[in-house]
Amino acid sequence: MVRDLIRSAHRPNEIIAMFRLKFGGFDIRQSDEPLEVLAEKLSDRDFCYAALNKVSRSFAVVINQLPAELRDPVCVYYLVLRGLDSVEDDMLYPAELRLPLLREFHTKCVEDGWQIKGVGDSDDYRVLLAHFDKVIRVFKSLKIDYQQVILASCKKMGNGMADFAERKLVTLHDYDHYCHYVAGIVGIGLSGLFSASGIESAGLKDQLKLSNSMGLLLQKTNITRDYYEDLSLGRSFWPKEIWGKYTHRLEELMQDPTSAESRACLNDLVTDALQYVGDCIDYLSLIRHPQVFRFCAIPQVMAIATLAKIYNNPDVYREVVKIRKGIAAVLMLHTTDMESVHKVMEKFANDILKKLDKNDPHYDLTKERCHTIIANLHKIRYKSRIQPMEEIDLQKAVLF
Ligand code: MG
Repeated sequence: MVRDLIRSAHRPNEIIAMFRLKFGGFDIRQSDEPLEVLAEKLSDRDFCYAALNKVSRSFAVVINQLPAELRDPVCVYYLVLRGLDSVEDDMLYPAELRLPLLREFHTKCVEDGWQIKGVGDSDDYRVLLAHFDKVIRVFKSLKIDYQQVILASCKKMGNGMADFAERKLVTLHDYDHYCHYVAGIVGIGLSGLFSASGIESAGLKDQLKLSNSMGLLLQKTNITRDYYEDLSLGRSFWPKEIWGKYTHRLEELMQDPTSAESRACLNDLVTDALQYVGDCIDYLSLIRHPQVFRFCAIPQVMAIATLAKIYNNPDVYREVVKIRKGIAAVLMLHTTDMESVHKVMEKFANDILKKLDKNDPHYDLTKERCHTIIANLHKIRYKSRIQPMEEIDLQKAVLF
């Protein structure tokens, strides 16, 4: 935490936000014991939350902020999908076993006592899959409507993953399709859970395009940001239809990160991701419950902050570029309603506009997309008037 505090040294609001997150009851206490040990002594439900904590701390924190009715279904949904994803990512598990398991994973979720040993791409995932019978028991205790949403999602995602296994992403269509399978489906599934709970409108589950865009914005942001890490793991999700315009070999981009081609390729991918922001704004404006709103909105504002940070940034070819922990903390605490989303998204869209380079081949399109985001934000009616950033009193705990 000390390094993060130094990075935010001249930004007291970020330091305050980091302390509030750490000590203000937002953080979840995590057991130091290995998940393997916890699996032996915890109840099924407690094991699910312990596993969630181990595999994704940040997601565990946001799930904890959801209305109580939705916590168990979203936790189980997440574990089912992470189990599936971990099968997909375990390259040591032979394809002739892996692909059928991906396609059948949804049937395993209803098979009493099912578990599988030695499969998964990390220790915690292997423990999760080795004790999957516990997740299945909690799954079966959920309301039938929740179960149906989770199984339908799992079936579609598993088949999509199997279709794309050992197949490179070539066209933009492939890219959109793959992101739909691994992330768009999650957006659609979450809308299904929200509607099934009765906390959100029954119609939300039918907002397929908007829900899909919620997932695609997050997934495409991560894929664009993770160029360096993915290549060092021997994989890549950048579609050839985009990078092929700038280089013959994807790896060559990192040899000259500041070249016009390397920058243009990165900016092309950022611009592609920006097309979903408008849908995300429309989706968020349909959400009624404040806790569900935060759950949905926080990852989206983090994504646009990340896009602004990586746009035209050669460091993407040298490391995984992340937004400062201080900014992340401020976003987590202050994203509470549509007004706060408006302020943040407008700020980051303007940050990208400021970084635009006239020589970039997508200059006009990127500019148009940023202006569309800002125009979309201004279409939404709020109870109170939004203050422009410069009017805000810096002495109060405000953004940036
Ligand atoms: Mg995966």
